[in-house]
Amino acid sequence: MVVIMKNGFTPEQLQEAIQAMKAGGVKVNISKGSETTVLGAEGSAANIDQELLEQLPGVEKVMRVTEPYKKANRKYHPDDTLIDLGSGTMVGGKKLAVIAGPCSVESEEQITGIARSVKADGAAALRGGAFKPRTSPYSFQGLECEGLKLLQKAKEATGLPIVTEIMGTEYIELFEECVDVIQVGARNMQNFDLLKKLGRMTTKPILLKRGLSATIEEWLMAAEYIMAGGNQKIILCERGIRTFETYTRNTLDLSAVLAVKSLSHLPVVVDPSHACGRAWMVERMAMAAVAAGADGLIIEVHNDPKNALCDGAQSITPDQFKDVMDKLAAIAPCVGREV
Ligand code: PEP
Ligand code: MN
Repeated sequence: MVVIMKNGFTPEQLQEAIQAMKAGGVKVNISKGSETTVLGAEGSAANIDQELLEQLPGVEKVMRVTEPYKKANRKYHPDDTLIDLGSGTMVGGKKLAVIAGPCSVESEEQITGIARSVKADGAAALRGGAFKPRTSPYSFQGLECEGLKLLQKAKEATGLPIVTEIMGTEYIELFEECVDVIQVGARNMQNFDLLKKLGRMTTKPILLKRGLSATIEEWLMAAEYIMAGGNQKIILCERGIRTFETYTRNTLDLSAVLAVKSLSHLPVVVDPSHACGRAWMVERMAMAAVAAGADGLIIEVHNDPKNALCDGAQSITPDQFKDVMDKLAAIAPCVGREV
């Protein structure tokens, strides 16, 4: 942290600023220039309240020079983190990890059928919501515990690890028993109680979706919450952000993939389905995501999109998924990856 003093500050004001910094646990280095005096904090400035410091009469400006996330920061962990999705299927390495499946689990036939098909085309894991965060309380809310059982049956039939969304802390123990990767949805990205408990109570990998209006730093701080609790296995997921645009459901922020890969060592996957909200865009956006350096994708695939209970408009069919995988296989070598 760097504190710039106002022109004409008094010696008392300087002491006041120095004391406030010291009270936060740092050593203060004073640099007096001909026009500006700058105070540099040596050590962690995490306990200094930047806004309060800025209110002091002699202080012009306070600037942070290091990121507030430490465990998620590439500076302290230069190598890419690889995460096992379950049964040795990795995300973060050379091989792209493609997670596929319906928005929500609807029946045994549906989920097992889709699982078999996406597995045959090279999916690394099966997605499917059992607990659904719907905008309307009158929309299908998911099969809940029954949905988890059906996911397990699909796993038994195919061997695919399962990825499903958790909605509250009361489900952590249940998910620990029967889920391979726990998804934290966009709407829960800043549910700090949930994040803290996922850090402390489970060692399962967490697929952390970016919040609808979250900055990259807020997203990384959400990862930091989980990591600070002890669980280091975070997979970040860019799923589009809210902008003024209404043609697409969200706006896929592919530059965030590059930013996050440079700021953090955590793997990043892209969800083109929720980003665009339109099935016909999924293939091209998936290709673009791989070109941008994503470590994998999470794609909604439904056997009968027209009659899907949730997100049919953005769901591709198993046949279309096969085409996507073929296209990804063509793009991957251009960026040093494989499918
Ligand atoms: C989902 O993956 O089905 C979902 C609800 O995603 P998001 O949290 O990104 O909206
Ligand atoms: Mn969905």
